Amino acid sequence: MTLEARDVWFRYGPRDPWVVRGVSLAVAAGEVVGLHGPSGAGKSTLARLLAGMAAPSRGQVTVDGHPPRPNRRERRPNPVQLVFQHAELAVDPLWKVRATLAETGAPDEVIAALDPELVPPRLLDRFPHEISGGEAQRVTLARALLARPRFLVADEITANLDAITQAGLWHSLLAAVRAEGIGVLAISHDRPLLDAVADRVLDFADLSRGARAGTP
Ligand code: ADP
Repeated sequence: MTLEARDVWFRYGPRDPWVVRGVSLAVAAGEVVGLHGPSGAGKSTLARLLAGMAAPSRGQVTVDGHPPRPNRRERRPNPVQLVFQHAELAVDPLWKVRATLAETGAPDEVIAALDPELVPPRLLDRFPHEISGGEAQRVTLARALLARPRFLVADEITANLDAITQAGLWHSLLAAVRAEGIGVLAISHDRPLLDAVADRVLDFADLSRGARAGTP
């Protein structure tokens, strides 16, 4: 199984500059690929395209040849789950952690059986304002994993966290994806972090380079 972008171009409006310029990349099942680039380069935009949350202006994103986002009528979770930097914006402040995790359709016993290193059980009955930033990011990661994705796009997921919390979260993530054969695109401006967690690292500027001078 492969998550693939083929000559993907994107801009936010017909008069806006191109943010993603002819990017092609592939992530295989079970592979952890790093995507490095500075802030503002277009990495988050590409992340949303890969998760099917926006459509490319030109080019294609596919999961094994199919669009990443399933037909809504099929009621299947997206095989490409996106986790991003701001966990606090990704959870409902009025829902306890248990309810946030249950939104995936996972039964109570599956939530109760989550790896306690990923989500300690004591967090389940707390509201988002009663947990730390690192704990909130663990909850959004667990929610993505409960959707049983084939691919995870992890966009600056530890950018707000101290080094020890960062290491712990990546340890949990890598253990989970290795166990399930989930492919990961790990996006960060932090090259040493990507070198530590990824099997190989791509540079966003290199991916766009061939097309930089022109338009499609
Ligand atoms: P990165 O993740 O590498 O920091 P982004 O993909 O967030 O980069 O942003 C790339 C460019 O796209 C920036 O110039 C940003 O201002 C612009 N951009 C991001 N989101 C929007 C949006 N919703 N509408 C218009 N422009 C946007």
